[in-house]
Amino acid sequence: MMIFAEVLLPLPIDHPFTYSVPAKLEDRVQKGGRVLVPFGHRRLTGCIVGFSQQPDPQIKIKEIIDVLDETPALNPSLLELTRWVSHYYFAPWGEVLKTVLPGKILPVARRFLRITEEGQRALREGRVRGEQERAILSLLSARSRMSQDSLWKRLGPSSGKGPSLTVLLEKGWIEWEWSNPPLPGEGEEGRISLRGEGPSSGPVSLTPAQREALDQIVETLERGKFRVFLLQGVTGSGKTELYLRAISAALRQGRQVIFLVPEIVLTPRIIEQLKTRFPERVALLHSGLSSAERLREWHRVRNAKVDIVLGTRSAIFAPFTRLGLIIIDEEHDSSYKQEDIPRYNGRDVAIMRAKLTDSVVILGSATPSLESYFNVQRRNYHLLKLPHRVRGLPLPPVEIVDLRRERPTGSSPSLFSGVLLEAMEQRLMRSEQTLLLLNRRGYAPFIQCIDCGFVFQCLNCDLSLTYHRTDRTLRCHYCGLRLKVSDSCPQCKGVRLLPFGLGTQRVEEELREMFRGARIARLDRDIARRQGNINSILEGLREGKIDILVGTQLIAKGHDYPRITLVGVISADLSLNIPDFRAAERTYQLITQVAGRAGRDNLGGEVIVQTYHPHHYALQAARHHDYEGFCERELEYRHRLGYPPFTRIIVIRIEGPNQEKVQEIAHYWGELLQQARKGMGEQVEILGPTPAIRLKIRNKYRWQILLKSPRSKLLSDLIRSVLVKYDSSACKNPNIRINIDVDPLDLL
Ligand SMILES: [Zn+2]
Ligand SMILES: [Zn+2]
Repeated sequence: MMIFAEVLLPLPIDHPFTYSVPAKLEDRVQKGGRVLVPFGHRRLTGCIVGFSQQPDPQIKIKEIIDVLDETPALNPSLLELTRWVSHYYFAPWGEVLKTVLPGKILPVARRFLRITEEGQRALREGRVRGEQERAILSLLSARSRMSQDSLWKRLGPSSGKGPSLTVLLEKGWIEWEWSNPPLPGEGEEGRISLRGEGPSSGPVSLTPAQREALDQIVETLERGKFRVFLLQGVTGSGKTELYLRAISAALRQGRQVIFLVPEIVLTPRIIEQLKTRFPERVALLHSGLSSAERLREWHRVRNAKVDIVLGTRSAIFAPFTRLGLIIIDEEHDSSYKQEDIPRYNGRDVAIMRAKLTDSVVILGSATPSLESYFNVQRRNYHLLKLPHRVRGLPLPPVEIVDLRRERPTGSSPSLFSGVLLEAMEQRLMRSEQTLLLLNRRGYAPFIQCIDCGFVFQCLNCDLSLTYHRTDRTLRCHYCGLRLKVSDSCPQCKGVRLLPFGLGTQRVEEELREMFRGARIARLDRDIARRQGNINSILEGLREGKIDILVGTQLIAKGHDYPRITLVGVISADLSLNIPDFRAAERTYQLITQVAGRAGRDNLGGEVIVQTYHPHHYALQAARHHDYEGFCERELEYRHRLGYPPFTRIIVIRIEGPNQEKVQEIAHYWGELLQQARKGMGEQVEILGPTPAIRLKIRNKYRWQILLKSPRSKLLSDLIRSVLVKYDSSACKNPNIRINIDVDPLDLL
C-alpha cells in the first residue's frame, strides 16, 4: 500500500502538503525528518509532520524526491512546540518552521535551463525556425545554464514565453537542470571557537542565599519534573554563578541545557565563563552568525556533540532531545519578543517547551517583569531570592535630583545638574569611571525653524527626523531614511534652524567641551552596529582607558567593571513619558539595571538620577531598591485599569498604503469583532479601532484595535472566528495586512 506524507514547507502557509512516498524511501521517512520535494519551479526542503490515508484520488499527488535526515530534524516535542507557537501567536505554521529551522537547514534547489548537444548542433546548422526559439538557444549556448526568470528578463517583456520553451524541451534541444541538491550536511564538524581567554576562576564559595536557591533547583532537576523558578537577585548578587552550578547539575543528570541572553555581543563574560567551565560542550546560536556557521552549530546540537546552547531568542528552538534545563537571563528584557511573524516571546515559548519536555526553567533578573512576579503570586512560578550582593558589597545609594530646582548657570540650562557635575569631577580626579545613561541616540530628536515652526519629518513615516551631528544628517529611526541637513528652512527660507531635545551625541559633545582631556566614549545603536566597536569599548572600560561612557540602555546590560563608581541618568523622564501602560515598569527596570553597574567592587558607588518628576513611585522604588514595593503599587494600577498581568492583550494592526482603505477595513474589523463578541458579556473588551500612535511608518498607514480579556482562550477564539469571516468576505483587501500581535510589548 502506498504511503502519503504530510510535508510542512517553509512558506507563509498554515497547512502541510501531501506527497506520496516512493517505495525505495519507505524505510527512511519519519515524522520530523526533512525531505526534498518538488514545489512549482523549485525543490523545497520541508518537514514531515504526519502520515495520511489515500487522499482524494482527483488530486494529483507528487512524490518525495529524497530523505535528508537519519535523525529527525524536529523531535516530537519540538514539532509539537511549532504547532503551539503557530496556534498561540496566529502565525502560519510554515513561517514557524522557517524560524525553527532557518536558512541552510531547509535548503532550496532551483531549476535551470541548459542547451543540449542536440540543441547546439541544431543552432550551428541553422535548423531552428522560430525567431524566439533561436534567441533562447543563442542565449543558452553562451553560458552553462540560466534560470527561467533571467531568461525571460533577457528576452524582454514582449516575448511570448511558454510555447517556445515547450517546443524546445520536446525536441530535446534544451533540458532542465537542478542546482546542486541540498546536502544533508551530516558530519560537518567545523566549530566556532568561543572567544575570550579569561583565566579560569577558582572555586567560588556561595552565599547562604545562593546555596539555598541552588539546592532547590538541583532537587527539582533530580526529580525530572517541569517547574519554573523566578530568580530575583539584586544586581551583583551572583546570578551567573548560580546558573553555572545549575548547568553542572543538569549535565550530571545527562540532560541538556539552553541558556538565553538578550544580546550576545554584550555578554562576553558569560561566554567566557561557560567556555572555561564547560570546554568543548557549548554551541552558540544567534542572529550574528552567517548561515553556514549557523548550519554547522545546528548540526553539532542535533547530533548531540554539545550539551549547552547559548543564544538569543531563537535558540529556544535548539534541536536537543534530552533537554533538562532552560535559563532565561534578564527575563524582563523586551528583546525576547520578536516583532516579525511569528511574533513570539522567547521567554513564554521556553515555558511551553519546558512543559513539553519536563524541564526546569530559571527566569533570572534583578527586575523581573510584572507578569512573572504575578505568576509567583498565583503559585505558577516558584520564587528564589538573592537579596544581597556577593562579598557583602552594598547596593549603591541612589540620589534623585529635582531638575525643577536647578538654576541655569550660563545662558542655557546645562544637561548636568550641579550634583552630577561635581560627582563626575571627583571621579576624574580619582581616575574612576562614570556611566551616563540617556536613552536616545543621535544629537537631537528634531530640528525646528524658529521663524516659522517647520520641523523636518520623514517622508515615509509620520515622525520627526533625528539630527545626527557626526555626519550632519537627519535620520529616521524607523525606516532608516537619511538626508543631508539643509542650510535653510524649506518652508520660509529662513536660516535659523535649531536642534531641540537631547540625544547621546549631544551629551558626548558637551562632555568633551566641559572635561577637556578626559577620555570619553559613547555606546548606542549607531556605534554598536560594528562588533569591533563594542569590543573596544568594553575593553576600554576593563583596562581603564575610558573615563566617561555615555550611552543608551545598551550600557545598562550586564556589565561588571570594578572602576565604575558613578552612574548618572541624564533624564529619567524620557522613558517615563512614553504613552504606554508599561512606561513606569520600563523606567524602574532601566534605572535599577543601570544603577547596578555602580560599585561592583570595594571602591563603592553612587547613582544620580535627574528628573522633573522626583516623586514618581517608579523612581522612588528604584531609589530604595524596593522591587516588591514597586510591583505592589504597579499591580494596583494595572488591576484598576484592567491591564496585564490581570488580562491578556491582543492587538490587531491594520496596515496599508492607502489611509482611507486602512480606516475602512479597520472599522469593518471593529464591526465583525463587536458582532462576534455578543454573548461573551463583559469578558472581552474591545478598544478601537483607532489610528496607531505612530500612524505612518515606512509608507504604511496603521490603525489598531486592542482586545483585552482575563480569559486568553476566549480572546483567541473570538479573533479566529472573525478571521474566518473576514477571509471569506467581499471586503477583504489584498493590499491591506492584518497583523495580529499576541501579548504585545510595543503598543505604539
Ligand atoms: Zn521613516
Ligand atoms: Zn522656516
